[in-house]
Amino acid sequence: MVRQAWAEVNLQALKDNYYKLQAYTQSEMMPIVKADAYGHGIIPVVKTLMNCGAKRFGVALLQEALELKAAFPKLDIMVIGAPEIDQWDTYVKEDIIPAIFNFSQARALSEAAVKLGRRARLHLKIDTGMSRIGFRDTDVSEIVKIGSLPSLFIEGIFTHFATADQKDLTFARQQLKRFEILFEKLKKAGLKIPIRHAANTAAILQFPEAHFELVRPGIGLYGLVPSSQVGAQVGLEPVMSWKAKVSHFKKIKTGETVSYGRTFQAAYPTAVATIPLGYADGLRRALSNYGEMLIHGRRSTMIGRICMDQTMLDVTKIPGVKVGDVVTILGKDGYEQITATEMAEWLGTISYEITCGISQRVPRIYLEPIGND
Ligand SMILES: *Cc1c(COP(=O)(O)O)cnc(C)c1O
Repeated sequence: MVRQAWAEVNLQALKDNYYKLQAYTQSEMMPIVKADAYGHGIIPVVKTLMNCGAKRFGVALLQEALELKAAFPKLDIMVIGAPEIDQWDTYVKEDIIPAIFNFSQARALSEAAVKLGRRARLHLKIDTGMSRIGFRDTDVSEIVKIGSLPSLFIEGIFTHFATADQKDLTFARQQLKRFEILFEKLKKAGLKIPIRHAANTAAILQFPEAHFELVRPGIGLYGLVPSSQVGAQVGLEPVMSWKAKVSHFKKIKTGETVSYGRTFQAAYPTAVATIPLGYADGLRRALSNYGEMLIHGRRSTMIGRICMDQTMLDVTKIPGVKVGDVVTILGKDGYEQITATEMAEWLGTISYEITCGISQRVPRIYLEPIGND
């Protein structure tokens, strides 16, 4: 490896998390691997989860689906986001399942399928309260019309919860009810849809009524809790750690300053370690003079502004720091741990944004699972 900064992806932890989540449900799991598996690397993640028994995967974009198809041609892949408006032929040819939420999409898919002499699968997306994409409860007749289009197979119907990660499931229950009522109406109108799905990680953990035939775990697979209110008891293990090696060490005098804008001024003689990683790697600049990293099993504060490619740490209280020492940005060092959840709290965001934000410039190192079961 050329670079002195990297992310370690522990595929054994991924497997363990998969089985921990599966223990919460009888339903089939469709792992969500959008955004390069939340930054973990889609191909190794999918390969590992296939070994765990996962057969069907969800991504957000056709582009992501095609990357997966190229590696695993037989895999069942669904695009859970809005389908690309001019790519129906590709959906049909590759047998990638789109999320359909209006009649014109369905008609275009049907036309492509007829033209190519194939049958196209689709899942209906229902908006029960996210107000993002999806049919609404007033669209029953529009959905029923889809049922009579040629060369289509309505394999699934799904919705997504806005608040499944809160302890209070009042709104989620309303969403579930809307989904069930709509499903019943479609059934009465003659649409037989074999697969219903609604549950993200949070709903897998605390909302069993919403599991149906299929569930859609994302964040939990990567070992992170969906929110501070849900998932702490599961014992999920973070899959990704993020590390770098100290590139420079020096002492500065009282009054000297660090980095652009001189926002850090030493109030005492200060030992400074430079880390070869910055905001271009996804270390958010908003953490300047605030965030922490682990070194020698202890916490040290980022001082001065985080640069594009470099960051400085105050290691005054940590003896023996030298060039080449490993610094942990995310992960464990001794008894200390910094999780993506903690970093997200520093920034007023969620762990999802942290792992997705670790840029492609950071090489991923894969720790293979122990054995194959
Ligand atoms: C991202 C996503 C998921 C996974 O959610 P997690 O909270 O990561 O488990 C499930 N369903 C849909 C529609 C999504 O967009």
